[in-house]
Amino acid sequence: MSDIDFTPRVRVTEFNDYLNPGKPPPPGTPYYVTNWTSPLSTTVIHEVCGGYVDGGITSETHRTFICRLCYLRISVPIRIETWGDLHNHFKECLS
Ligand SMILES: [Zn+2]
Repeated sequence: MSDIDFTPRVRVTEFNDYLNPGKPPPPGTPYYVTNWTSPLSTTVIHEVCGGYVDGGITSETHRTFICRLCYLRISVPIRIETWGDLHNHFKECLS
């Protein structure tokens, strides 16, 4: 699956929490999750509460994303680098 061929929102919990890019990238550009690792990057939105999501590497194996408003906390393997990777990861984890 291409990184740009699916609806951008990604379901990240069994409780139907969705993450959503704040704005679409230019045509043909993948959504790079690694853009989230900067504390200044506030382009990912937790859909239910509307909070910005910050992310960073929190261990040798995982990076963690935290919603500024509700403190939803999600850890994913560090190998996940694109929005497509994230989509596929949670599709496997939550199926
Ligand atoms: Zn939230």
